[in-house]
Amino acid sequence: MQRKKIVILGSGFSSLAAAAYLAKAGFGVTILEKNKEIGGRARQLVRDGFVFDMGPSFYWMPDVFSSFFGDFGKKVEDVYDLKRLDPGYRVYFGEHDYIDNHADFEKLKQTFEQLETGGGRNLQKFIDKAGKNYDIAIKDLVYKPALNIFEIVTRDTIFKLNEFVSTISRQVRAGIRHQRLRTILEFPVLFLGSKPSNTPAFYNFMNFADIKLGTWHPMGGMFAVVKAMEALTNELGVEILTGHAVNELVVKNRKVVAARTDHGDFNCDVLLSGADYHHTETLLPQSLRQYSEGYWDSRTFAPSALMYYVGFNKKLVNLEHHTLFFEPSFDKHAESIYDNKKWPVDPLFYASFPSKTDPGCAPEGKEAAVFLIPIAPGLKHDDQKTRTKYLDIIIERIERNTGQSVKDEILFSESFSVSDFVNDYNSYKGNAYGLANILLQTHILRPRLKSKKLDNLYFTGQLTVPGPGVPPSLISGKIVSNLISDYERS
Ligand SMILES: Cc1cc2nc3c(=O)[nH]c(=O)nc-3n(C[C@H](O)[C@H](O)[C@H](O)COP(=O)(O)OP(=O)(O)OC[C@H]3O[C@@H](n4cnc5c(N)ncnc54)[C@H](O)[C@@H]3O)c2cc1C
Repeated sequence: MQRKKIVILGSGFSSLAAAAYLAKAGFGVTILEKNKEIGGRARQLVRDGFVFDMGPSFYWMPDVFSSFFGDFGKKVEDVYDLKRLDPGYRVYFGEHDYIDNHADFEKLKQTFEQLETGGGRNLQKFIDKAGKNYDIAIKDLVYKPALNIFEIVTRDTIFKLNEFVSTISRQVRAGIRHQRLRTILEFPVLFLGSKPSNTPAFYNFMNFADIKLGTWHPMGGMFAVVKAMEALTNELGVEILTGHAVNELVVKNRKVVAARTDHGDFNCDVLLSGADYHHTETLLPQSLRQYSEGYWDSRTFAPSALMYYVGFNKKLVNLEHHTLFFEPSFDKHAESIYDNKKWPVDPLFYASFPSKTDPGCAPEGKEAAVFLIPIAPGLKHDDQKTRTKYLDIIIERIERNTGQSVKDEILFSESFSVSDFVNDYNSYKGNAYGLANILLQTHILRPRLKSKKLDNLYFTGQLTVPGPGVPPSLISGKIVSNLISDYERS
């Protein structure tokens, strides 16, 4: 019997994961990627001996990666080298004034205790709760396809109902008084794309991921994971075609029969899109789209970002692999993203120096840096003037807080922002990482994995279930392929 043919749009983590599962299940799989390189938002930039991850850099929830490769009889250590970072990250609050998020939990408790009496004990209590939620999330929630609410109604989740209606912000503030410690405990929520005051307290499982499971670095960067997945899909016989933008989905009798590209039509029995959900629907006639423009406009999107990839001519000091510059107000910055939707006046930013851990990321004696300011999606005027202005702010803040001059050591800098997210990834309003995980955008309230209007059209990735981030994208690829196998075999 001829194998059923699946065409997948995009080569981000969710598409690569789905491709591997579907090929293993016996489908013939072709990936069509618009860009020249694979990896989607996790592409790599290489310049003058410097190597940068263009998107994700925090490797959290290592158990999810192990589980993914384990499904194919592989161990993570067989496909890339993983190093736990200590500290996981450093947070600057002023000049030479910072807190390190130690990998050793007892040491971190001491840091909390030093800043507030009882802080260590309160952190322990908070993390114990977060750990229980992590187990529930992995066991009962994130691997479910969100076909109906009953999937996630279990004895454990019913007992946690109050944590779905309360927020992380409220929970942190109830147990911790010191502003800096609150900021550290609210930071992981940024990965969910929403404000702590708008994120269900249940998501404190991200704190467990941060503090207990740790921050890791795959040698070669996050792109090493992409390469490992590419090798896996090659072994499984998946065809990957880059430079193949899909311009239209051809439909007959309630089915997508082909993906149309400038290189011709690619016929399919099933179409799976790992490209941004809104964009995929625009490839269909209006009447076959499930969600209106008004629907998308009313969603809470994760932030966009203003990013820089910078090569420095020397090693920088007083900085960790991941360093956050959080001396301005976290709440004010969040308001500029979610409420006013304006360019931030006094921005927080994140800096990554992968060459501190991974010598392959920069020539000897030099430093590779990535800077990121989270900003509101849809912001206009991300022109050169704006980009230069914010790079100057970043450089001045690094110099002041860490006590060194770096400006004259810049060999080159490249930037990436809202308009690049739109052009390179067909991202709605230039969002960096999908739809935020607020209560009203959780589980069945997220865009569906399977189209209501077309019988063989499926979606995966950060805009659908379970949500933004690399581990959720791997999970999304797994659950959609199970769904496809179930429907297409029934
Ligand atoms: C700046 C940034 C920092 C991040 N930091 C972290 C982090 O530290 N840790 C973490 O876990 N997560 C992080 N994330 C989130 C994480 O990177 C994403 O959630 C994840 O990579 C999304 O994968 P995806 O498969 O959903 O989609 P994508 O990676 O967006 O892949 C979609 C692909 O579809 C392609 N495509 C679009 N339209 C078409 C078309 N018409 N035809 C063909 N192909 C098309 C695109 O080119 C793209 O390659 C970050 C994201 C960004 C942007």
